[in-house]
Amino acid sequence: VPELPDVELRRRYLDATALQRRVDHAMVPESRVLEGSADHLRRSLNGRRLVGSRRHGKHLFARLDDGSWLTLHFGMTGRLVAFASLGDEPEHCWLRLDLNDGMHLAYVCPRQLGHVGACSDADEYVADHDLGPDALDLGEDVFLQRLEGRRGQVKLTLMNQRVLAGLGNVWTDEVLFQDGLHPTTPIPDLDEARRLQLFRTMHRVLAEGVERGADPERMPDTWLLGHRDEGARCPRCGGEIQRVEVSGRAGYLCPEHQERPGG
Ligand SMILES: [Zn+2]
Repeated sequence: VPELPDVELRRRYLDATALQRRVDHAMVPESRVLEGSADHLRRSLNGRRLVGSRRHGKHLFARLDDGSWLTLHFGMTGRLVAFASLGDEPEHCWLRLDLNDGMHLAYVCPRQLGHVGACSDADEYVADHDLGPDALDLGEDVFLQRLEGRRGQVKLTLMNQRVLAGLGNVWTDEVLFQDGLHPTTPIPDLDEARRLQLFRTMHRVLAEGVERGADPERMPDTWLLGHRDEGARCPRCGGEIQRVEVSGRAGYLCPEHQERPGG
């Protein structure tokens, strides 16, 4: 599932394959991923040049030369694919940009759980979707503000896109694992020093995740990412990795070294 580090890589891929190119033609079939009509998206893109990009949590925005934005969200399985020949168009392509350098960029989303659309203002889109600040771009003061008054468990709070945008099941598990914090710890049990430690861990894990290409194979062996199996050995302390299901999603933790402060 594309979370912040994965989306940041997609942003860089978009920059490398489409930035400063003009969209000669946008192919938009009817699909469930469309936010707004296919016709509106086509008209927003046709003839426009892509001049910038921005990530906000799990959302990617591409700025067009008229000041409007293409919005992309990748759901469970979405990705971008650039290719040279139309015969190589991947399956499940719900948006295809035919660029003036002869290349094509496809938004591919097999399960159609992502979203694609056009909007006039990215900040307004973020506000309309009630998204919290981007989890990698925010500073510690804002992080403390976002946790202020929260009563829920730390894992669910970090995954709540209204609190912070960008963390999902996998990267939240990684942050908590490295921080030594149990996922069910209630936010009120964390004092300010502990919250700041959590912020720093989150920032370090996300930044390193991006740097290493968000690829579980390339993460250090001391990370949880390569050990997400029930009964696996914890690479930190030798404890037994435990699987817990939270709202239908499999989470992993080490009950030995991930503690509940005050609990
Ligand atoms: Zn452990």
